[in-house]
Amino acid sequence: MIQKADLHTHSTASDGQYAPASLVQFAKARGIEVLALTDHDTLSGLEEAERAGEKLGLTVLRGVELGAKEYRNLHILGYGFSKETPGLRELCEKMRAGRDERKYRIIDFLREKGVEISLAEVEEAAGGDIISRPHFAQVMVHRGYVSTNREAFDRYLDTEEYQRIERFKADAQTCVEAIRTAGGRASLAHPYQVGLEEEDLESLVRQLKEYGLEGIECWYPRHSPEQTAFYLRLAERYGLHITGGSDFHGEKVKPDIQLAAWELEMDWLLA
Ligand code: AMP
Ligand code: MN
Ligand code: MN
Ligand code: MN
Repeated sequence: MIQKADLHTHSTASDGQYAPASLVQFAKARGIEVLALTDHDTLSGLEEAERAGEKLGLTVLRGVELGAKEYRNLHILGYGFSKETPGLRELCEKMRAGRDERKYRIIDFLREKGVEISLAEVEEAAGGDIISRPHFAQVMVHRGYVSTNREAFDRYLDTEEYQRIERFKADAQTCVEAIRTAGGRASLAHPYQVGLEEEDLESLVRQLKEYGLEGIECWYPRHSPEQTAFYLRLAERYGLHITGGSDFHGEKVKPDIQLAAWELEMDWLLA
């Protein structure tokens, strides 16, 4: 069945602005029938989202977005895994611990640049247990070091120099397999962000398919029509399902991105 879906969203459980239940409310108001909550490296917002979905009569699909280590923005979306998922939970926990260890290095990096913010402020901004770069950006805006989230990334948090600050990530095969072992299905998030030319991206998709990838996020607000067309061709060529998501984080984090209601074939994910 084709349904209006947004299969890529973030809540306060990672770096989104809104609590899972609020997100589900917005989705309902927007006429979305299926919402996947795909927080970075954590499953902690899912129960709240599922409860809100039941209350409002909207299908909430359990999701997660895992950052793989091969490329800076190689992200794997996982959907519909079961609740008892020791392997996936363990992988998320390793990623959480890696973020926890990284936070001190980001504070030091910013201090070297003359940006003095405290870890306590960042942790307060994060609220939960996932500490992500937008939380640092938020504090920098609040303290007047920059005027927007975008500026915080352009000047400090996404510069060439910043790239030396790494954190633990698993390889793509481990991410895909963890999702599959948990009974879930994996889709390649925002393919353009991987930053590869068409031919290299195609090789990557072929490789991921061998690991068990089943979908590709063709519909994404920042894809050009040409990019979308290429990803749709890849889906066809490699027998991948088409997914779509807004990557909504809330307007304080990503001012130009709203929830989306893509028309997607959902049977493979909901059956
Ligand atoms: P982290 O996983 O903590 O390294 O942070 C990555 C998050 O920062 C992503 O999920 C985005 O929400 C955000 N992000 C990364 N790069 C940028 C950028 N150039 N501009 C704005 N936000 C970004
Ligand atoms: Mn994010
Ligand atoms: Mn992503
Ligand atoms: Mn995302």
